[in-house]
Amino acid sequence: MNDIEIRICVECGSQFLKSKSKMKNLCPECASILYGYENCKHIFKNGRCIKCFWNGSRSDYIKLLSDKF
Ligand SMILES: [Zn+2]
Ligand SMILES: [Zn+2]
Repeated sequence: MNDIEIRICVECGSQFLKSKSKMKNLCPECASILYGYENCKHIFKNGRCIKCFWNGSRSDYIKLLSDKF
């Protein structure tokens, strides 16, 4: 049942599914932008990704970085 452990991303504050991220304190989105890890191919339903649970929020720092891509 470890698969469904929910964690809070320290960067954007969103919940995420631990098993979907390579980092234990970052959601797949932030881990991908900050450290280049593989991102989740998000599928949004009812305001959050059904695969990793990310809710689409971004910290100002992440916004700044992702604007550059
Ligand atoms: Zn995050
Ligand atoms: Zn996702």
